[in-house]
Amino acid sequence: MAEKVTPRSEDYSRWYTDVVQMAELADYAPVKGCMVIRPYGYALWENVQAGLDRRFKETGHQNAYFPLFIPESFIRKEAEHVEGFAPELAVVTHGGGEKLEEPLIVRPTSETIINTMMAKWIRSYRDLPLLLNQWCNVVRWEMRTRLFLRTTEFLWQEGHTAHATAEEAEAEARRMLDVYTDFAVNDAAIPVIPGRKSDTERFAGAVRSYTIEAMMGDKRALQSGTSHFLGQNFARAFGTQYLDRNNELQYVWQTSWGVSTRMIGAIVMVHGDDQGLILPPVLAPIQVVIVPIWRKDAEKEAITAAIADLRGRLTSAGVRVRVDDRDDVSPGFKFNDWEMRGVPLRVEIGPRDLAAGQVTLARRDTGEKFPVPMADLAARVPGLLKDIQASLLRRATEFRDANTHEVSTWGELVEVVADGFARAWWCGSAECEAKIKEETRATTRCIPFEQPGGTGKCVVCGAEAREQAIFARAY
Ligand code: ZN
Repeated sequence: MAEKVTPRSEDYSRWYTDVVQMAELADYAPVKGCMVIRPYGYALWENVQAGLDRRFKETGHQNAYFPLFIPESFIRKEAEHVEGFAPELAVVTHGGGEKLEEPLIVRPTSETIINTMMAKWIRSYRDLPLLLNQWCNVVRWEMRTRLFLRTTEFLWQEGHTAHATAEEAEAEARRMLDVYTDFAVNDAAIPVIPGRKSDTERFAGAVRSYTIEAMMGDKRALQSGTSHFLGQNFARAFGTQYLDRNNELQYVWQTSWGVSTRMIGAIVMVHGDDQGLILPPVLAPIQVVIVPIWRKDAEKEAITAAIADLRGRLTSAGVRVRVDDRDDVSPGFKFNDWEMRGVPLRVEIGPRDLAAGQVTLARRDTGEKFPVPMADLAARVPGLLKDIQASLLRRATEFRDANTHEVSTWGELVEVVADGFARAWWCGSAECEAKIKEETRATTRCIPFEQPGGTGKCVVCGAEAREQAIFARAY
């Protein structure tokens, strides 16, 4: 892999595609709009899944699986839902060589089919809350392809829950956003801004949508997870009812929430540099790579033995280790290769290290190199990985904060959203929001939960505003 990635300063979008392809996370599929997730990218996704799945289970959710095909009539039952999704649906009209009586939609999201089943399974208040999640793929037709960020088919999890009261459902929607925030911050080292979506950015069929928004390395925003309070919209469309304690029939209150393989795109763009990926240790498929350096066969034997011992001790310490014992490429080539793949720590062992009873450690995040006694390595590495994890989060937080500005005039808003996040008072009207979008290409990312309090003047119309919103150009 002698090729180099395009520098970010030259062309950020090409830098992104170069990194994703050269680090072998994903590739373009022979099918337009689709991607192939390669083993290294899939291993990263598996770690994302593990971090989220553990949190879902800790909060009482169970995994299930619903069909890929959804009868067209189901999608039509909730008016706003069908309107929102119609332009991006893939429809199956034939099966087994025959035209189908009713076309089947390849799932874009599963509220409709899950409600059909919930309506059957839920009888009384004793069956509530029903807390489900499914890991699956979804299809939303796309004209442009951007690996992990915008593809016709992508992987995700979708949580779907039913509750007896609006308060419980609302609390669930907020709790799952907290779960996403916790994952983003602590596992992906991505600082996010949790908040509410504006009405125009709301999920089709929801009463309220919540989101976590992150700043990428080019200062654009990426919606990194959403959670929706669905009210009774789907319950009424599908007749999802339960008998309450007074034996009266009530509609359930619901939520849905999702995080997709877009998260991989966020990890690439938040942490990566001109050498390639930088992976947060918690999610990195390989946390430490050991590169042996030798010239003579006699050296090889001693070094190989020392590495076998180190690998064993690191593995016992719970570290994910890879030994790069390829003998057809040079150590320098290996260094570049693993830097490209974002492995947090590299261990080098040459004859001189061996003689001194030490190894040379290199940090991917800072480029620092320093010797560590061999006997201390297994004890030192977990602490170093924690330190790298913390420093990535700190760096990303500082970058985001340095590029987020509170603005009070239209002129300031235009200037700030050209190269960062703007925080401004907004009266809440769709007209003011539309004007911002049309004239600056920035969209309302969210109305952050964290508000200064009091009131201010809308940055567009000057009317009294009770909330501030974040505006930015987004992926
Ligand atoms: Zn306004």
